[in-house]
Amino acid sequence: MTATHVPGLPVIEDNQLISTNPATGEEAGRVPAADEQAVRAAVERAKEAAAWWQGLGWDGRRTRLLRWRSLLVERIDELAELTRLESGKPVNDGLIEITAAVEHLDWAARHAKKVLGPRRMRTRLLLAEHVGHLEYQPFGVVGVIGPWNYPIVTPIGPISGALAAGNAVVFKPSEYTPVVGQWLVDTFAEIVPEQPVLQAVHGLGDIGGALCRSGVGKVSFTGSTATGKKVMAACAENLVPVVIEAGGKDALIVDFDADVRAAAEAAVWGSMTNAGQTCIGIERVYAVAPVYDAFVAAVVEKAGKLRTGEEIGPITMPRQLDIIRDHIEDALAKGGRAVLGGADAVQAPYVAPTVFVDVPEDSSEIREETFGPTLTITRVSDVDEAISKANDSPYGLGGSVFGKKNAVRAARRLRSGMVAVNGTLTFVGMGNLPFGGVGESGFGRIHGEDGLREFARPKAITVRRAKSLLPAMTFERTPAQVRQIVKALRLLYGRKP
Ligand code: NDP
Repeated sequence: MTATHVPGLPVIEDNQLISTNPATGEEAGRVPAADEQAVRAAVERAKEAAAWWQGLGWDGRRTRLLRWRSLLVERIDELAELTRLESGKPVNDGLIEITAAVEHLDWAARHAKKVLGPRRMRTRLLLAEHVGHLEYQPFGVVGVIGPWNYPIVTPIGPISGALAAGNAVVFKPSEYTPVVGQWLVDTFAEIVPEQPVLQAVHGLGDIGGALCRSGVGKVSFTGSTATGKKVMAACAENLVPVVIEAGGKDALIVDFDADVRAAAEAAVWGSMTNAGQTCIGIERVYAVAPVYDAFVAAVVEKAGKLRTGEEIGPITMPRQLDIIRDHIEDALAKGGRAVLGGADAVQAPYVAPTVFVDVPEDSSEIREETFGPTLTITRVSDVDEAISKANDSPYGLGGSVFGKKNAVRAARRLRSGMVAVNGTLTFVGMGNLPFGGVGESGFGRIHGEDGLREFARPKAITVRRAKSLLPAMTFERTPAQVRQIVKALRLLYGRKP
């Protein structure tokens, strides 16, 4: 390590990417740094590996993926410890993250054949003598670009979907968590030693850019909205399709008939878990007037018990501390009141739990992704005002509603890809539900059936099964035959419903 090394800040030395613990500066490990040529070479190798992997068939791939799943379970403690070492994440948070990752891997492995396997389609009037077939073909090689905040579950979502669909994957982990990324690739290679079906390429942002331009069939990106736009622009050069899983500013609504203590517990966990470095973390609460005071008191009581350095780990990325500090200062300058934490909350590399009230809607603490253990609570007159304020954001990733009578209706009206009712972040733990956002939170889906289809191209095939009685799509049809077709059309589709 160099003398100028900052804890948590990755460096490249002698073509090695070195990552360190953000709290202690302890080295987490080193991996070979790639250049553009190495990325292209990895993608070329992956093309061959993809053909071999496809040759294993649905059942062969399922078995291998389930074996990898079991290996992750077997070595869960080792992986959680490595994640703590590299990102500072508390081990218990790491264990829960791996649990969610295993769920997605298991679901994708077990359901790929059913969701993507070939099927016969019903004949339609115009082509009654043909039968239709629909199948979902893999892209070949999928590039996966991942963030550091959940270095296991975020990449495993697209990786498991892409692999189960029959693709090979080239994975660019975040420069902050390359060692965890390499661990995933190495353990997969223990289960699939024959071919490099899953590879990692390491480096800084330019290596992600190189992956977009390397000849991959699709890119799945998870990270900030700003980088997502760069990824999309790079992919646009060759019309490479993309999935963008980007940032968020998720809101939690507390309605008049909510269980206030349960809502407070969920708001604290949803906003402070992983030190607030969660894309679907709760950053804003809108609580209706009758329950507002009790809710604020319960949040302060519960968040006040969290210990910095224990439940609240360090901020993984050093420059994020400046953003969190700016948001706190802006909230205070604009008239917000800190009922917990506040002005001195940022003590690098930690941020103490901070809860604000009365923060104006135009402050950065309300409008921009903070990505720290801070929460704003705003009093609203009713659930309509709560929804309108929650939706007044360029982001739209997840969200949460606490209440009884109107909760599910309110959940539908939130402009976001996912909502938990009387819970928070829960949708990320269900392998059969799609995950993704709207607006500046991105588009496309990982997880569930939609997440599998994201990594395959639908292919339509028609096969003639008989001679045409009423030929339509040929110059050899007669005017009488066309009239007969129109007659049949009137009979079948002409009646008004
Ligand atoms: P970044 O956008 O900084 O980085 C994400 C990945 O993109 C990293 O691997 C990064 O590499 C790479 N990258 C950087 N520049 C480029 C480029 N020009 N072209 C291609 N790839 C590039 O995000 P963070 O890692 O800081 O992650 C935090 C963000 O991720 C938050 O906004 C969070 O909300 C979001 N997120 C979204 C999730 C979702 O599912 N919607 C889930 C988890 C996080 P490098 O690290 O080397 O710079």
